[in-house]
Amino acid sequence: MKRTADILIRGNSSLFNKICSQFEGRLDQLKLEPSGLQIVIDEEKREYQELMLMINREGIKYSITETREYTKKELKEAKFFHVGVFYPWEQDALKNAEFYGTKYVQDHHCEHCGKVQTSELKLDVKKIGKHHLIHIRPELIITEYAKEVIESSQLSGYEILPASDYKTRYDQKVYHLVIKSILPPFDNHVRCDPYEHYPASDCDICSLRGFPRSEFVYREEEVEKFQDFNLTFEYLNAYQNRLLIISTEVKEIFHNHKIKLLRPEPVRFI
Ligand SMILES: [Zn+2]
Ligand SMILES: [Zn+2]
Repeated sequence: MKRTADILIRGNSSLFNKICSQFEGRLDQLKLEPSGLQIVIDEEKREYQELMLMINREGIKYSITETREYTKKELKEAKFFHVGVFYPWEQDALKNAEFYGTKYVQDHHCEHCGKVQTSELKLDVKKIGKHHLIHIRPELIITEYAKEVIESSQLSGYEILPASDYKTRYDQKVYHLVIKSILPPFDNHVRCDPYEHYPASDCDICSLRGFPRSEFVYREEEVEKFQDFNLTFEYLNAYQNRLLIISTEVKEIFHNHKIKLLRPEPVRFI
């Protein structure tokens, strides 16, 4: 695996000049952007350590994202993958399942783990378009085609429930894919940027961790708890959802049947 860091340094021009003169020609990319000094660097390189040391020592303000590239061998040997799911409401995130009339009750104070669905899932079915698997906060929806694909394979960790269009237009049959397997908490090697305006420990049952900045890592001895379909224990990313982790078998079946999964990345066991 190759890790490349994309670092944005904030500060004034004298700081930028200092970094530029110290690292000139030794980084993969060094560019002055309106938002700060942008640096791209292979994490294996000595300069990465040197830069991070300087950042920490001098208390320089920065943000970092990491790109990870896997070899063919690593991809072939992976047993589980974290995957993204197409989200048609990206520009309209307030339109969640509840907005379309799905009923929930609050079984305890937590707005994440304390929410229990009490009606059939309702949504605007037209939003699915040509996709076979989509996400509507906080649920997953599949088409009849995807339901047949899943049910004709021996897969574990899920349940399929009916779902319907909120205007009962019945132009397409859809189902609610309920993931029953919730994984144990991930290992603390997983790096997360915590939510800025949200206390990390607002609930003693679930875990609101923020934005994952590394691959998902679990303990080797926990691999037997993984099923074909799983959700992370943690609630993550901008929409504070549990994220999907699937077996290689699901990934291959979906690939062979053209059911699209986004940005698959191997889960690491240590
Ligand atoms: Zn709670
Ligand atoms: Zn909770």
